[in-house]
Amino acid sequence: MRGLLVGRMQPVHQGHLQVIKRILEEVEEVIIGIGSAQLSHTIKDPFTAGERMMMLSKALAENGIPASNYYIIPVQDIECNSLWVAHMEMLTPPFEHVYSGNPLVQRLFTEKGYQVTQPPLFNREIYSGTEVRRRMLADEKWDQLLPESVVEVIHEIKGISRIKHLARKEVSDTK
Ligand code: NAD
Repeated sequence: MRGLLVGRMQPVHQGHLQVIKRILEEVEEVIIGIGSAQLSHTIKDPFTAGERMMMLSKALAENGIPASNYYIIPVQDIECNSLWVAHMEMLTPPFEHVYSGNPLVQRLFTEKGYQVTQPPLFNREIYSGTEVRRRMLADEKWDQLLPESVVEVIHEIKGISRIKHLARKEVSDTK
Protein backbone atom coordinates (compact mmCIF):
# COMPACT_ATOMS: atom_id res chain seq x y z
CA MET A 1 0.00 0.00 0.00
CA ARG A 2 1.12 3.58 -0.75
CA GLY A 3 0.39 6.70 1.32
CA LEU A 4 0.63 10.41 0.52
CA LEU A 5 1.85 13.26 2.73
CA VAL A 6 2.03 16.77 1.34
CA GLY A 7 3.59 19.77 3.05
CA ARG A 8 5.37 23.03 2.32
CA MET A 9 8.24 21.93 4.57
CA GLN A 10 9.67 25.43 5.01
CA PRO A 11 11.95 23.97 6.33
CA VAL A 12 11.81 20.18 6.93
CA HIS A 13 11.66 19.72 10.73
CA GLN A 14 11.52 16.93 13.32
CA GLY A 15 7.68 16.88 13.16
CA HIS A 16 7.79 16.01 9.44
CA LEU A 17 10.36 13.30 10.10
CA GLN A 18 8.35 11.76 12.96
CA VAL A 19 5.17 11.72 10.90
CA ILE A 20 6.92 10.09 7.92
CA LYS A 21 8.29 7.37 10.24
CA ARG A 22 4.77 6.83 11.62
CA ILE A 23 3.27 6.57 8.11
CA LEU A 24 5.88 3.99 7.13
CA GLU A 25 4.67 1.79 10.01
CA GLU A 26 1.32 1.59 8.16
CA VAL A 27 2.22 1.57 4.45
CA GLU A 28 5.14 0.15 2.45
CA GLU A 29 5.78 3.33 0.46
CA VAL A 30 5.17 7.00 1.17
CA ILE A 31 4.87 9.73 -1.45
CA ILE A 32 6.02 13.04 -0.03
CA GLY A 33 4.73 16.02 -1.98
CA ILE A 34 6.76 19.20 -1.55
CA GLY A 35 3.88 21.67 -1.69
CA SER A 36 3.93 25.25 -3.01
CA ALA A 37 6.97 24.23 -5.05
CA GLN A 38 6.90 27.47 -7.03
CA LEU A 39 7.48 29.57 -3.90
CA SER A 40 10.83 30.65 -2.46
CA HIS A 41 12.66 33.75 -1.27
CA THR A 42 9.92 35.11 0.99
CA ILE A 43 9.91 35.04 4.80
CA LYS A 44 7.06 32.51 4.86
CA ASP A 45 8.56 30.39 2.05
CA PRO A 46 12.30 31.05 2.09
CA PHE A 47 13.57 27.80 0.52
CA THR A 48 13.28 26.56 -3.06
CA ALA A 49 11.66 23.23 -3.92
CA GLY A 50 15.10 21.84 -4.80
CA GLU A 51 16.53 22.88 -1.44
CA ARG A 52 13.56 21.32 0.39
CA MET A 53 14.01 18.09 -1.61
CA MET A 54 17.67 18.04 -0.57
CA MET A 55 16.74 18.62 3.10
CA LEU A 56 14.21 15.79 3.00
CA SER A 57 16.32 13.18 1.22
CA LYS A 58 19.27 13.84 3.53
CA ALA A 59 17.07 13.72 6.65
CA LEU A 60 15.54 10.40 5.54
CA ALA A 61 18.98 8.95 4.78
CA GLU A 62 20.28 10.17 8.16
CA ASN A 63 17.43 8.26 9.79
CA GLY A 64 18.11 5.04 7.89
CA ILE A 65 14.97 5.17 5.74
CA PRO A 66 15.78 3.41 2.44
CA ALA A 67 15.16 5.39 -0.78
CA SER A 68 13.04 2.47 -2.05
CA ASN A 69 10.42 3.37 0.61
CA TYR A 70 9.62 6.88 -0.60
CA TYR A 71 9.13 9.24 -3.54
CA ILE A 72 9.75 12.98 -3.16
CA ILE A 73 7.75 15.02 -5.66
CA PRO A 74 7.59 18.81 -5.96
CA VAL A 75 4.05 20.07 -6.51
CA GLN A 76 3.17 23.61 -7.57
CA ASP A 77 -0.01 25.23 -6.29
CA ILE A 78 -2.88 25.77 -8.70
CA GLU A 79 -5.68 28.37 -8.74
CA CYS A 80 -8.56 25.86 -8.47
CA ASN A 81 -8.85 23.95 -5.20
CA SER A 82 -11.53 21.72 -6.77
CA LEU A 83 -8.97 20.44 -9.31
CA TRP A 84 -6.04 20.08 -6.93
CA VAL A 85 -6.57 16.36 -6.15
CA ALA A 86 -6.50 15.58 -9.90
CA HIS A 87 -3.34 17.71 -10.17
CA MET A 88 -1.74 15.63 -7.38
CA GLU A 89 -2.85 12.39 -9.04
CA MET A 90 -1.28 13.51 -12.31
CA LEU A 91 2.12 14.12 -10.66
CA THR A 92 2.42 11.21 -8.23
CA PRO A 93 2.44 7.41 -8.31
CA PRO A 94 -0.98 5.98 -7.37
CA PHE A 95 -1.81 6.07 -3.64
CA GLU A 96 -4.64 4.75 -1.51
CA HIS A 97 -4.28 6.66 1.72
CA VAL A 98 -3.71 10.35 2.52
CA TYR A 99 -2.14 11.66 5.72
CA SER A 100 -2.58 15.32 6.60
CA GLY A 101 -3.15 17.67 9.50
CA ASN A 102 -4.19 20.45 7.12
CA PRO A 103 -8.02 20.91 7.10
CA LEU A 104 -8.17 22.03 3.43
CA VAL A 105 -6.04 19.08 2.26
CA GLN A 106 -8.21 16.70 4.33
CA ARG A 107 -11.41 18.19 2.87
CA LEU A 108 -10.28 18.05 -0.78
CA PHE A 109 -9.13 14.42 -0.63
CA THR A 110 -12.14 13.25 1.41
CA GLU A 111 -14.51 14.75 -1.17
CA LYS A 112 -12.77 12.68 -3.86
CA GLY A 113 -13.29 9.49 -1.85
CA TYR A 114 -9.82 9.01 -0.37
CA GLN A 115 -9.27 7.61 3.08
CA VAL A 116 -7.68 10.49 5.03
CA THR A 117 -5.95 10.15 8.39
CA GLN A 118 -4.85 12.97 10.65
CA PRO A 119 -1.54 11.76 12.06
CA PRO A 120 -0.69 12.69 15.66
CA LEU A 121 1.16 15.98 16.09
CA PHE A 122 4.57 15.79 17.71
CA ASN A 123 5.49 18.84 19.84
CA ARG A 124 3.57 21.11 17.46
CA GLU A 125 4.36 24.27 19.52
CA ILE A 126 8.01 23.94 18.57
CA TYR A 127 8.07 21.48 15.64
CA SER A 128 6.53 23.92 13.22
CA GLY A 129 7.94 25.81 10.25
CA THR A 130 6.56 29.08 11.63
CA GLU A 131 8.41 28.60 14.92
CA VAL A 132 11.66 27.56 13.19
CA ARG A 133 11.59 30.65 10.94
CA ARG A 134 10.71 32.91 13.89
CA ARG A 135 13.72 31.61 15.83
CA MET A 136 16.01 32.02 12.82
CA LEU A 137 15.03 35.68 12.57
CA ALA A 138 15.23 36.30 16.31
CA ASP A 139 18.70 34.71 16.67
CA GLU A 140 17.22 32.08 19.01
CA LYS A 141 18.23 28.43 19.05
CA TRP A 142 16.56 26.74 16.06
CA ASP A 143 18.88 23.87 15.18
CA GLN A 144 17.52 21.35 17.71
CA LEU A 145 14.12 21.53 15.97
CA LEU A 146 15.59 20.09 12.77
CA PRO A 147 17.35 16.87 11.77
CA GLU A 148 21.13 17.44 11.83
CA SER A 149 21.44 16.98 8.07
CA VAL A 150 18.85 19.73 7.48
CA VAL A 151 20.86 22.09 9.68
CA GLU A 152 23.88 21.31 7.45
CA VAL A 153 21.88 22.07 4.28
CA ILE A 154 20.70 25.39 5.75
CA HIS A 155 24.31 26.32 6.51
CA GLU A 156 25.43 25.17 3.03
CA ILE A 157 22.86 27.38 1.27
CA LYS A 158 23.44 30.28 3.72
CA GLY A 159 19.79 30.07 4.69
CA ILE A 160 20.02 32.26 7.79
CA SER A 161 21.54 35.21 5.99
CA ARG A 162 18.91 34.74 3.24
CA ILE A 163 15.93 34.84 5.62
CA LYS A 164 17.35 37.85 7.48
CA HIS A 165 17.94 39.66 4.20
CA LEU A 166 14.36 38.86 3.12
CA ALA A 167 13.03 40.24 6.42
CA ARG A 168 14.93 43.52 5.92
CA LYS A 169 13.67 43.69 2.33
CA GLU A 170 10.02 43.08 3.31
CA VAL A 171 10.24 45.82 5.97
CA SER A 172 11.77 48.30 3.48
CA ASP A 173 9.15 47.33 0.81
CA THR A 174 6.33 48.32 3.19
CA LYS A 175 7.84 51.82 3.81
P1 NAD B 1 3.26 21.76 6.52
O1 NAD B 1 4.68 21.61 6.12
O2 NAD B 1 2.87 22.78 7.55
O3 NAD B 1 2.70 20.36 7.09
C1 NAD B 1 2.64 19.20 6.31
C2 NAD B 1 2.15 18.03 7.15
O4 NAD B 1 3.18 17.65 8.07
C3 NAD B 1 0.92 18.36 8.04
O5 NAD B 1 -0.27 18.07 7.34
C4 NAD B 1 1.09 17.42 9.21
O6 NAD B 1 0.44 16.20 8.96
C5 NAD B 1 2.60 17.19 9.25
N1 NAD B 1 3.22 17.91 10.40
C6 NAD B 1 3.68 19.17 10.46
N2 NAD B 1 4.16 19.45 11.69
C7 NAD B 1 4.02 18.33 12.40
C8 NAD B 1 4.31 17.96 13.75
N3 NAD B 1 4.87 18.81 14.65
N4 NAD B 1 4.02 16.71 14.15
C9 NAD B 1 3.45 15.83 13.28
N5 NAD B 1 3.13 16.12 12.00
C10 NAD B 1 3.42 17.34 11.58
O7 NAD B 1 2.46 21.98 5.16
P2 NAD B 1 0.95 22.33 4.77
O8 NAD B 1 0.71 23.78 4.88
O9 NAD B 1 -0.04 21.40 5.43
O10 NAD B 1 1.05 21.95 3.21
C11 NAD B 1 -0.04 21.80 2.38
C12 NAD B 1 0.40 22.10 0.95
O11 NAD B 1 -0.66 21.77 0.08
C13 NAD B 1 0.74 23.59 0.74
O12 NAD B 1 1.88 23.70 -0.08
C14 NAD B 1 -0.50 24.10 0.03
O13 NAD B 1 -0.26 25.23 -0.82
C15 NAD B 1 -0.85 22.86 -0.80
N6 NAD B 1 -2.25 22.94 -1.29
C16 NAD B 1 -2.43 23.49 -2.51
C17 NAD B 1 -3.71 23.62 -3.01
C18 NAD B 1 -3.86 24.27 -4.37
O14 NAD B 1 -2.83 24.44 -5.04
N7 NAD B 1 -5.05 24.64 -4.80
C19 NAD B 1 -4.81 23.19 -2.27
C20 NAD B 1 -4.58 22.62 -1.03
C21 NAD B 1 -3.28 22.50 -0.53
